[in-house]
Amino acid sequence: MFEKVLVANRGEIAVRIIRACKELNIRTVAVYSEVDANSMHVQMADEAICIGPAASSDSYLRIDRLISAAEITDVDAIHPGYGFLSENSHFAEVCESCNIRFIGPSSRAMNALSDKAVSRALAKKAGVETPPGSEGTVENEKDALVVAKKIGYPVMIKAVAGGGGRGMRIAHNDVSLVKGYHTARSEAEKCFGNSGVYIEKFIENPHHIEIQILGDNKGRIIHLGERDCSVQRRNQKLIEESPSPLLEHKFRKLRDKIGKAAVRIAEAARYTNAGTVEFIVDDNGNYYFLEVNKRIQVEHPVTEEVTGIDLVRYQIELAMGEPLRHSQGDIEIKGHAIECRINAEDPFGDFRPSPGRIEMYYQPGGRGVRVDTHAYAGYSIPPTYDSMIGKLIVKGADRREAIDRMNRALNEFMITGVKTTIGFQQAIMQDPNFRRGVYSTNFVEQFLGGARYELIEEKT
Ligand code: ADP
Ligand code: ADP
Ligand code: MG
Repeated sequence: MFEKVLVANRGEIAVRIIRACKELNIRTVAVYSEVDANSMHVQMADEAICIGPAASSDSYLRIDRLISAAEITDVDAIHPGYGFLSENSHFAEVCESCNIRFIGPSSRAMNALSDKAVSRALAKKAGVETPPGSEGTVENEKDALVVAKKIGYPVMIKAVAGGGGRGMRIAHNDVSLVKGYHTARSEAEKCFGNSGVYIEKFIENPHHIEIQILGDNKGRIIHLGERDCSVQRRNQKLIEESPSPLLEHKFRKLRDKIGKAAVRIAEAARYTNAGTVEFIVDDNGNYYFLEVNKRIQVEHPVTEEVTGIDLVRYQIELAMGEPLRHSQGDIEIKGHAIECRINAEDPFGDFRPSPGRIEMYYQPGGRGVRVDTHAYAGYSIPPTYDSMIGKLIVKGADRREAIDRMNRALNEFMITGVKTTIGFQQAIMQDPNFRRGVYSTNFVEQFLGGARYELIEEKT
C-alpha cells in the first residue's frame, strides 16, 4: 500500500487526485510554482514544495525538481495528472529507476504509443481502421503533395506530438497544403519540441467518440463505455457526455464494436492503468482510430457518474499492483452524465482568456450535481496556464433530465471578477439540435455563426 503520493500537477486535477488519496488514507505532497502558492491543491495537501517560477518549463515540467521533491518527502509514488509530464515516458522511466511508482501506464506501454504516427501504425496492425493518410511522418512538401493527391482533399496536417487541439491544420488544395505543411511543422517545433507531422484525410461532419479503458499488470484490459466529446471549439472539447447520443439512437451496434476495437489497440500496446482510445465517427457509421491518451482525462467524471467507478482511486490501486476488480460483464452504464468545462474566457470576445481575481464565487449543488474545481472567492487565476477553472458535472436518469439539470446548475453558478463560458454553455443546453442529440464537431461553429440564439448575458 502506498503511504505517500506526490501530485505532479496543479489546478482541479491536483485537487481531484488529493481527494482520492485522502479517501484511501494516503498522505499527499503538492508541488507548486511561485504563482500557485495560494492555490487550493497546496492548501489541501499534507505537505507542499515550491518547485520554481511560474513558467511551466521552470516548474511543473522540471523532472529534476520533481524527483528531488519526491526524494525529500520520501513518497512511494507520483501521480502526473493530465497535461505537463503525464505522457512523458522519460519521466515515467526516471520515476521507475528511482524506485518511485508512476501512477499511469508503464514506460513500455507509453513507448509503444509514443506519438500519433506510431499509434496509427499500431492500430492498423490491431485491425482497426485509421483515417486514410501517410505512412508515418511526412518529411518534405513533395511527399505531402503525393499523399494528398492519393487520399484527396480536404486533408489534415497533424503534429505527431500534438495535444490539446493544437498543432493541426486543414488543407483544401495544393497551395494551402504547402503553406500548412510548413506552418504546422514550425508550430509543432515551438509547442511540442518535435517538428514531426503526418497527414490524414479530413473526415467530414465528424463525431468525436472515445472509450475509457483500464488495464492491470497481469495483462487484463476492460473498457468502461464511451464519451461523446463532439462539442468542441477549435478542436478543443467544451462539453462531454456519456453515453453518446449518436450511439444510443443512430448506430446502436457501434458501441460494442468500438469498445472492442479500443481494447484490441490497448492489448497490442500491452497497456496498463487508465487510458482513453479516441475515435472519429462519420455520418455513415464508419469509425476511425485517432489517438490514445495515455493518462487520466479531463472528462473522466462523466464515465465515473454512469459506471459508479472511481477512476482515480482505480488508477492508484492498479499502480500498486492490484488486479482489476471488474470483468467486462460487470460494467453497467446507468443513466446519463454531462460535463461542462468552465473556462475563464470571454465568449463574447472570441474566447480570449480572462485571468484575474475571482470576486464572488457560488457553486451549484442539489441532486445529481458535482463540481470539480480549485477555484474559490478571492482566488487569482494566473495568466500562465490553461484557462479551465473547473468542471460542472451532472447526472440524470436519462439525457433529457441531465440536460435540464445542467441548465439549472449553470444558472445557479455565480462567478464574478472574471469572464467565464457559463452563459455560453447554458445557451447550448437550450439549443434544439443539442437537445435532440443531433450534433457533430461542427456544432459550435454553426451555433456561433448561426446567431439564432442570443448568448445568455452573464449575471455580472
Ligand atoms: P482531454 O482529452 O483530457 O481533454 P486535452 O487534449 O484537452 O485532453 O488535454 C488536457 C490537458 O493537457 C490540457 O490542459 C492540454 O492543454 C494539455 N495537453 C494535452 N496534450 C498535450 C501536449 N502534447 N503538450 C502539452 N499539453 C498537452
Ligand atoms: P489532440 O491530440 O489535440 O486531442 P486529436 O487527434 O485527438 O488531437 O484531434 C482533436 C480533434 O480534432 C478531434 O476530436 C476532431 O474534432 C479533430 N480531428 C482530428 N483529426 C481529424 C480528422 N482526420 N478529420 C476530422 N477531424 C479531425
Ligand atoms: Mg485527442
